[in-house]
Amino acid sequence: MSYTRWFVITLLLGLVSLPARADFQVFACEPEWASLVREFLPDARITTATSYLQDPHYIEARPSLIAAMRRADIAVCTGASLEAGWLPTLLQRASNPAVQPGRSGLFFAAEHAQLHAPHDHVDRSMGDVHPEGNPHVHLSPDQLPTIADALARRLGQLMPEASSDILARYIRWRGGWSQHRIEWRRKAEALQGRSVVIQHTNFSYLLNWLGVDTRFELEPKPGLPPSASHLSQLLAAPGLKGVDAILIASHQDPQPANWLAKQIQKPVLVVPGTVADSDQTKTLAGLISTLVNTLAATVQEDSGGRL
Ligand SMILES: [Zn+2]
Repeated sequence: MSYTRWFVITLLLGLVSLPARADFQVFACEPEWASLVREFLPDARITTATSYLQDPHYIEARPSLIAAMRRADIAVCTGASLEAGWLPTLLQRASNPAVQPGRSGLFFAAEHAQLHAPHDHVDRSMGDVHPEGNPHVHLSPDQLPTIADALARRLGQLMPEASSDILARYIRWRGGWSQHRIEWRRKAEALQGRSVVIQHTNFSYLLNWLGVDTRFELEPKPGLPPSASHLSQLLAAPGLKGVDAILIASHQDPQPANWLAKQIQKPVLVVPGTVADSDQTKTLAGLISTLVNTLAATVQEDSGGRL
C-alpha cells in the first residue's frame, strides 16, 4: 500500500489529525479568556485587550486593538454588558464579518453561565449595574467547566482540523480543574461564615462558593466609586468590625480600602482580579488557588491572634 493511500485511510479513520493552522488569530477581551484559549490552542496568536492592572469595564478602543479585531478569527469576551462601553465600537470600526454579533466568531462566556444578581432594568444613574446579572463569572469553580466546554466546541467548529486535539486538551484541562476543585472545597471549610469587605462584585462568584460573606461593599453601587458619605455609612454598619479583611483587585484604587483598614484595624488583601504574570496566577486554576490560599492564611492568622 502506498504511503498516500495509507495516510488517507488513517485520516478517514480519525487516526491522524492534521496540524492546526498556525495563523489562527484570537482576540480576547480579558486575560482570563486568553489563558483559557491557550489551554486548548497553545499555538494560537492571541491579542488580549486588557490586563489585570486595568478595569475591564473601561478601556479605550485604540487603533492597535481595532487592527487586532480586524484580523481575528474569533473574539472571546465576557459579555453581559461588561464590555458595553468599548466592544461595540471596536467591532464596528474593525468591520470584520467573522466576529460580528450572531456569527460563530464572537464568543461570549456569560451566555454559557447562570449569572447571579440579575437586575430587571438598567439606570445609568445607578452606576454600572449589569442588567443581565454579575458578569464577573470567570472565578466560578462550578461554571468555568461549562464555559470551557462551549469554548472548546466553538474553537473546534472554527478549526475542524484541530478539533480532536482541542477535545483532548479540554478533557485533560477538565480533569485538572476537578482536582483543584476538591482542594478548594477542602480549604473552604475554614472559610465558612467568614466575611470580607469587597470593592466591586468581581470576586463574588468565588467568595459565595467558598461560603464567605460579601455584604459590605466599598462602592455605593456597582461601578460607582466609593464616596466619603458611603464610607462613613459603611463604618457605622452593624457587623462591620467582624470582617476578616478588605479584599480588592490589583486594578482598583487602594485608597478607600486603606482608609477603612485603618479605622477597623483589618488587613487589606490586594490580589489580581484576573490571570496575571506570575507562575501562580497565569492560569485560572492557579489564580483561584492563590485567592483561596490568601484568604485561608488571613483567617488562620486572625484565629491565631484571638487565641
Ligand atoms: Zn462589574
